[in-house]
Amino acid sequence: MTLSSITEPTDALADLVAGRLPDARGRFGPFGGRYVPETLIPALERLEDGVRQHLRSPSFQQELAAELKSWVGRPTALTFAGRLSERWGARIWLKREDLAHTGAHKINNAIGQALLAKRLGAGRIVAETGAGQHGVASAAACARLGLPCTVYMGSIDMRRQAPNVDRMRLLGATVVAVSTGDATLRAAIDEALRDWVADPLGTYYLLGSAVGPHPYPYLVRELQAVIGREARAQFLEKAGALPDAVIACVGGGSNSIGMFHAFVPEREVEIIGVEAGGRGEALGDNAATVSYGRPGVLHGTYSLLLQDADGQVQETHSVSAGLDYSGVGPEHAFLAHVGRVRYESAGDEEALAAVRALCEAEGILPALESAHAIAGAKRWAASHPGGTIIVCLSGRGDKDMPTLQQTLLKGEK
Ligand SMILES: *Cc1c(COP(=O)(O)O)cnc(C)c1O
Repeated sequence: MTLSSITEPTDALADLVAGRLPDARGRFGPFGGRYVPETLIPALERLEDGVRQHLRSPSFQQELAAELKSWVGRPTALTFAGRLSERWGARIWLKREDLAHTGAHKINNAIGQALLAKRLGAGRIVAETGAGQHGVASAAACARLGLPCTVYMGSIDMRRQAPNVDRMRLLGATVVAVSTGDATLRAAIDEALRDWVADPLGTYYLLGSAVGPHPYPYLVRELQAVIGREARAQFLEKAGALPDAVIACVGGGSNSIGMFHAFVPEREVEIIGVEAGGRGEALGDNAATVSYGRPGVLHGTYSLLLQDADGQVQETHSVSAGLDYSGVGPEHAFLAHVGRVRYESAGDEEALAAVRALCEAEGILPALESAHAIAGAKRWAASHPGGTIIVCLSGRGDKDMPTLQQTLLKGEK
């Protein structure tokens, strides 16, 4: 089955722009929905009611805005990358999510959902984490609001990301090792869901990306949309026009959907998502889900997945742990389906080269995830000399030093 045979994209984009998606069933066209065990349905319905009641209420928005400003450090800067622009030939701007508290965009979602959990009367938070970044953001948000926090993490990831495990513990979270399944993010999500089902009233599940069953992809998008809203206003103020393009890296898809949302209605703005091309095109060598995946269900949502001919979800590879996920948020599958966003991939080597380029030209060490977007911007610049592009710099690269020592710095003394 090809993507375009599922439904006709006619007018679907207009529905999204008009705010009619996700629809009442939590779908973005054919994608999204709620594919979970019966036992989880009441919890998701309660969450959906809570989102409807609180998310747009003035008192919630006021409380969220105050935390974003005084604790997260928003608005984050929009930085003109002058020397990089000179080298690459387009005018490149950086939306600085690396400057947000805890070093990445994930905190926007974590503090928003933690505030929501409080309003819903939850007494504790559970979260999953892969690379540890969402675990750290959740632990920080929970400490800030005085909520106990349990983070599920694959035992393999705990070994690979030991400093983040320590950070979570310092921030007061309980980190639970998951040794079942693939002992990485996929298994950690399963365990967090199991914990939530055991006490859906007292526990709140703080999901870390724009994935999972409805209403999570919607909720996370709304909480991350502040990125694009700020970037659009900041760019308009500085340049007096919209950019020619915006670009962001895509793992589960939260920083990118947050960046894209305000630009989707601006048809003249080109939107590009960059996935992890890893070592190459073969199944298992990358995490480029939109580029190489096929439709299927993972973690409660119908979207694109990296799977084999029998529908077995495949392991992924990327030099950046945060992009290493075999699924992608359903709204991205939709945006690809209707042709509004172009998805491409950048490989490990391109991302590493982009880390070096940004360090040398701008004095900014980007996260390896964000470096994929920088690599995409370089390519875009080559074909759009003089054009303007905003890159979502989703996080800072300090956390990647062990990987950078083994790659870029290898042999240097
Ligand atoms: C987690 C992470 C990502 C990938 O997650 P998305 O949900 O796709 O945004 C990208 N960049 C950084 C810095 C991250 O920590």
